[in-house]
Amino acid sequence: MAIYAYRCPHCSEIEVNFPIGTAPAAVPCPNCGAASVRVLSAPMLARTPAAMHAQLQRAQRSASEPEVVTSLPRRRGGGAVAAHPATSRLPRP
Ligand SMILES: [Zn+2]
Repeated sequence: MAIYAYRCPHCSEIEVNFPIGTAPAAVPCPNCGAASVRVLSAPMLARTPAAMHAQLQRAQRSASEPEVVTSLPRRRGGGAVAAHPATSRLPRP
């Protein structure tokens, strides 16, 4: 399923889910019933929040080139992220 945007001439922009490639050129507005024309936009560019975009970029980078860290990641509050209890059973060098 993909989200398609339509613009009603009387109301505002509406979003409708359709399987990819099956979206009609116009759909009836759920509020007033007027024919709403499909709006074409670049996918995942204008509507992606900055934080989500940063995470997507980081995940994409780490897929082919994992980040090398020298310490545990820190929480925003300051303390280190607690290690998983199972890591205490791992062999130590
Ligand atoms: Zn409408």
